Amino acid sequence: MLNTLRKIVQEVNSAKDLKTALGIIVLRVKEAMGSQVCSVYLLDPESNRFVLMATEGLNKRSIGKVSMAPNEGLVGLVGTREEPLNLENAADHPRYRYFAETGEERFASFLGTPIIHHRRVVGVLVIQQKERRQFDEGEEAFLVTMSAQLAGVIAHAEATGSIRGLGRQGKGIQEAKFVGVPGSPGAAVGTAVVMLPPADLDVVPDKAGDITAELALFQTALEGVRNDMRTLSAKLATQLRPEERALFDVYLMMLDDASLGSEVTNVIKTGQWAQGALRQVVTEHVNRFELMDDAYLRERASDVKDLGRRLLAYLQQARQQTLVYPDNTILISEELSAAMLGEVPEGKLVGLVSVLGSGNSHVAILARAMGIPTVMGVVDLPYSKVDGINMIVDGYHGEVFTNPSEVLTKQYAGIVEEERQLSLGLDALRELPCVTLDGHRMPLWVNTGLLADVARAQQRGAEGVGLYRTEVAFMINQRFPSEKEQLAIYREQLAAFHPLPVTMRSLDIGGDKSLSYFPIKEDNPFLGWRGIRVTLDHPEIFLVQARAMLKASEGLNNLRILLPMISGTHELEEALHLIHRAWGEVRDEGTDVPMPPVGVMIEIPAAVYQTRELARQVDFLSVGSNDLTQYLLAVDRNNPRVADLYDYLHPAVLQALQNVVTDAHAEGKPVSICGEMAGDPAAAVLLMAMGYDSLSMNATNLPKVKWMLRQIHLSKAKELLAQLNKIDNPQVIHSTLQLALKNLGLSRMINPTSPKKF
Ligand code: PEP
Ligand code: MG
Repeated sequence: MLNTLRKIVQEVNSAKDLKTALGIIVLRVKEAMGSQVCSVYLLDPESNRFVLMATEGLNKRSIGKVSMAPNEGLVGLVGTREEPLNLENAADHPRYRYFAETGEERFASFLGTPIIHHRRVVGVLVIQQKERRQFDEGEEAFLVTMSAQLAGVIAHAEATGSIRGLGRQGKGIQEAKFVGVPGSPGAAVGTAVVMLPPADLDVVPDKAGDITAELALFQTALEGVRNDMRTLSAKLATQLRPEERALFDVYLMMLDDASLGSEVTNVIKTGQWAQGALRQVVTEHVNRFELMDDAYLRERASDVKDLGRRLLAYLQQARQQTLVYPDNTILISEELSAAMLGEVPEGKLVGLVSVLGSGNSHVAILARAMGIPTVMGVVDLPYSKVDGINMIVDGYHGEVFTNPSEVLTKQYAGIVEEERQLSLGLDALRELPCVTLDGHRMPLWVNTGLLADVARAQQRGAEGVGLYRTEVAFMINQRFPSEKEQLAIYREQLAAFHPLPVTMRSLDIGGDKSLSYFPIKEDNPFLGWRGIRVTLDHPEIFLVQARAMLKASEGLNNLRILLPMISGTHELEEALHLIHRAWGEVRDEGTDVPMPPVGVMIEIPAAVYQTRELARQVDFLSVGSNDLTQYLLAVDRNNPRVADLYDYLHPAVLQALQNVVTDAHAEGKPVSICGEMAGDPAAAVLLMAMGYDSLSMNATNLPKVKWMLRQIHLSKAKELLAQLNKIDNPQVIHSTLQLALKNLGLSRMINPTSPKKF
């Protein structure tokens, strides 16, 4: 069964559209299960009816015509109960309804499973059989698995707009929402431009092309690969035996006009662009080979794939040179990289979407520094099929809307304009201090990672750097930067902000922040070898970094060192020992620097409980609310599937944050917060009320937080906090906070797209 399933999935995934995919599913499932009928019903959101979309065994003329409401028939029952229904004789069931046009009276047994995507029923898959019998557990499990596969296919079809008024063509356009994780705040409305990973045939979409131009492109690609093959063959002449070199001749033959070459040419002549035609032909060949039982022939699939990849690389290269980016480009890729951002001409890029990655990928950090709304980790987005369509990026919530309706587009365009006006208005705040209406002064600092952040931070009037993520420079590099290289990077940061303080965090890798040249493979990376754990195990890395920081601060003396992922005093003591050792060494080498203030991050629950003990040994504390929230709530901060549970306004998180301030102050130590929460204007009100001494955030949000805090009394903020402290439900906390700020006339700065989070 597993093998059959694999084959069906493979075939379905290579189907060119939803109709074909559904056709394959009903045919193959019917065959595999030996049933007489297999049908798919999809829920049309416009009419809220399950519409028969594909069938093998029922009357095909009823496709698109037969439909039932959720409270009608057995299909409706499966859809509303969201459970499989396995009946020996369907007609005996009280919910059975007979549809004359389908001819289903001939079938007795019925097995239906709901098709569910992200908790939403999108359809029902049904098999039926003439004889009365209960389908066994294995059959039921097979159909459930098939439904789960189908759910993904349907979600993809929604994204590309191929489900539009099911069964009633052309009736309205349906928008689809894809959920990822927030990468960089803000909203954008624009046109999707997909940057495909180099030479990956599987993700090349169908697209119309100019026949003459595409034929010429393909001929050039063919010539390119032929030349490469000849060169390669000649190069390996001395290393390979003649029979091994024969492979190159096979390749050359396959490229021939009478073979693969001519097949692709024929598809291009139907109007398909060269890349799509190549994918189509290669996939057909590969599928045929892979389904063969003979192991040798199965292997041939990889030859065809290899050839396809080589041809594609040439075609992509040619396209890249002629690609015109539209105004309001929303750049999409499976895995965005910093280099890709550089490809888009200045002023055209309004949004970013990455299928993989998280809010902490360096692209997301770069996007925040550039102020470009970004959504990361949109794992369900069929990115290869969305090129050229209209799209909305909601970087606040980590949501992407494909084919948005006019209403939604207008709503978001309004938000974009509102934000533009807002940021123009906020520029005026630059020179003004962050002080509340009753005179409480709250220093606002920035988080930085790249040099690009520096200019923005300065434009926004930051009063210091609360968190410089040193790992970003390591992530962009191809190897560990040397002490000298690090010194130069750190010096730039320190000099740019001088005399304002710059808090440099020691290398915080692991978790989702990996270095290509120092791979860490773990089953549970967030609970694994992360942050200080890595650098204490590698004192040479820690010492080099500390020495570089200390040397970089010579004559500037605005350095502060911050230690990440501390889970207890033992780690802190070890790290302090290493910093003192590095300090001694650089002074011995003649660098005259004072011992900088050293701080510890509170981002692990254990550290919350040990705040006092830790505070005694350091000069300052800084709360990493990003990690603290994930560890307190046991919710992976980068996993879009549990993103709804990740909530820094959860009462447990608020309580922990309050305890940290109380304990730090009891030891007479200042405490700041540098997680994303500090950059949320509404949350900042609460943090100020708790007594945080400074807030550190991305430069984009700094003016918003300043605006908010300048409009409120500290006394009012404390009242609000006291009121929220009595609430045990996170949702109620959100709505109470939102309402209170609205009543104070302060809702303008709360994320305008947000019903729930700020
Ligand atoms: C945090 O965890 O809140 C933090 C600021 O550090 P990072 O996001 O880099 O883990
Ligand atoms: Mg952290």
